[in-house]
Amino acid sequence: MSIEELEALMAELGQPAYRARQTAAWVHRRGVRSFDSMTDLPAELRALLSERAELAQPLVRESRRSRDGSVKLLLELEDGERIESVAIPDEDGRLTACVSTQAGCPCGCVFCMTGRSGYRRNLDSAEIVCQVSAAASSAGRPVTNVVFMGMGEPLLNLEEVTRALSVITDRRCVGIGSRHVTVSTVGIPPAIDRLSGFRGQVGLALSLHSAVEQTRRRLVPYSRRWSLADIRESLVRYSSAVNRPVTLEYCLIGGVNDSRAEAEALTAFARGVRAKINLIGCNRVEGLPWRSPSPRAMKAFRDWVAESCPVVTLRASRGSDISAACGQLGGVSGGVSGSG
Ligand code: SF4
Repeated sequence: MSIEELEALMAELGQPAYRARQTAAWVHRRGVRSFDSMTDLPAELRALLSERAELAQPLVRESRRSRDGSVKLLLELEDGERIESVAIPDEDGRLTACVSTQAGCPCGCVFCMTGRSGYRRNLDSAEIVCQVSAAASSAGRPVTNVVFMGMGEPLLNLEEVTRALSVITDRRCVGIGSRHVTVSTVGIPPAIDRLSGFRGQVGLALSLHSAVEQTRRRLVPYSRRWSLADIRESLVRYSSAVNRPVTLEYCLIGGVNDSRAEAEALTAFARGVRAKINLIGCNRVEGLPWRSPSPRAMKAFRDWVAESCPVVTLRASRGSDISAACGQLGGVSGGVSGSG
């Protein structure tokens, strides 16, 4: 619940508005899992809250730690649905939670495990926010950044995603500044325009993967509904509305999108967009033929792009040894371990 929704509940219970802030602090800052532990609330209110509300938390069915410190969590929701989240620490002390927004995904990107398993349902805002606290618990410290890059297409679940964003970015709740939050999309122009109306200035990342219409339609089938020109225009509008650059994510696949012509199409797409470009080698997914180009070929691609777009980075993949990297989430891991 957002602070406004909690305040409405408190009003219904005949309580002053500041009780909403106290309750939110217990849930999001101190991580308590029972109303009885909220010792600065009157006993009568604690009893009422236990009747009217629920402090739900997904079950951690499995927790796998990568050599690079990333932790992949397999979470079980109340209806038994399983989703995955990743906690990614870095050397600067940041902890990034990569959260899922749908169980499965309807977009069908050809290199993605989630896309291959099909779409099951949207997550609600609580199920999205809970992944941030699960990531913090797994790392034993607070999350500093959130990326909506796990399972699912966030902009196909925009209502619950914006509710979750309100709770995550509100200082009285989770309190992560909107500049430390990024929503990723395959590029859905009407939804990008709607997201720009969100009161915070959250970052937007486009999973581009090719700026050649034909290649992109093959790699990201869902994006066939819109032309690259329309998607590009929506990025320009978004970046100007929130006054920050967008990110173009480009997963390099050997022999598919790593040619000089593809690099030129990428720079042409980026021209006039306030954007930074992230290149990353495609991760190996069992049963799929896609392979990352050689390190030399990736550097060559980066250099071609850098000739006209200086803000380009070739990034290292994180968590690929535990199948927690881009394209490798599937919600199908088995076994029970972790913190339960
Ligand atoms: Fe869905 Fe993202 Fe996978 Fe594409 S890459 S199928 S949008 S989860």
